[in-house]
Amino acid sequence: MAFGPLFYIWTQFLISLTTWYPVQSLPSQGMNLAPSTSNTKALDTNARVIYLTFDDGPLSGTFNCFEICRREQVAATFFEVGLHQSRSAFGRQMFQQINSYPALFTIANHSFTHANNNYLSFYHHPDTALLDFLKAKTVLNPSNNLTRLPGNNAWNLTHVKRASNLVRPLVDKLDSIGLNVIGWDLQWRFNKAGRPVQSPEYLADKVDSLFFHHQTLTKNHLVILMHDHMFRAAADSLKLEQFIQALKQRKNYQFQKLTQYPGLKPTVN
Ligand SMILES: [Zn+2]
Repeated sequence: MAFGPLFYIWTQFLISLTTWYPVQSLPSQGMNLAPSTSNTKALDTNARVIYLTFDDGPLSGTFNCFEICRREQVAATFFEVGLHQSRSAFGRQMFQQINSYPALFTIANHSFTHANNNYLSFYHHPDTALLDFLKAKTVLNPSNNLTRLPGNNAWNLTHVKRASNLVRPLVDKLDSIGLNVIGWDLQWRFNKAGRPVQSPEYLADKVDSLFFHHQTLTKNHLVILMHDHMFRAAADSLKLEQFIQALKQRKNYQFQKLTQYPGLKPTVN
């Protein structure tokens, strides 16, 4: 079923209010945030790894995400929707452009239909949902075995499994064919107009806080969820650039593709 961009953004916004949840309880807005002074970082000998992830492309906004990360030379993972990649020349071109920077970017499987945004039906039919992921695999031909569920924060790696009862049957099926399921630690939310909610400064402080309080799924590794469509306007893509630049100023932070995340099941060809 095809759906237009405005309908898409509206339904994604509604879903973000209802079904997205953090893997672990995150610090409340009022709690003390971790200091980001050089003194604090000097005591920490462990690098802190940030995984920028952009979901649901190729869409309006994908080029800005791609171009900003390319310009800033930060690694990123694009969880793409097979339908969005295959339905237009723009989608196919954007897909090829991202793929032409394999040292910096990787494209991963975010299903073919994005559940047509009917999540309950999608997850209640895990065999059909699995076929949807396999269809996306043939279209996206990813060089990795990473997947992310539409509208649901689930994990399944070698050392951890986090899945609600709703999605567990599908997660088990993805697991049985050797696929990793990746969720997120922190989300940059968007409003009903599809524009970013939190400020870049707030997000950067939140990253500091989650690392400092060890509130990520894997210690010193933090996955950030963003959506390509949030950054289609110039004023909003500027926020993405400011966020990345703020993180780059923290001297023990580094950016990696999700293919570098600890505990992944190996890719089987
Ligand atoms: Zn999505």
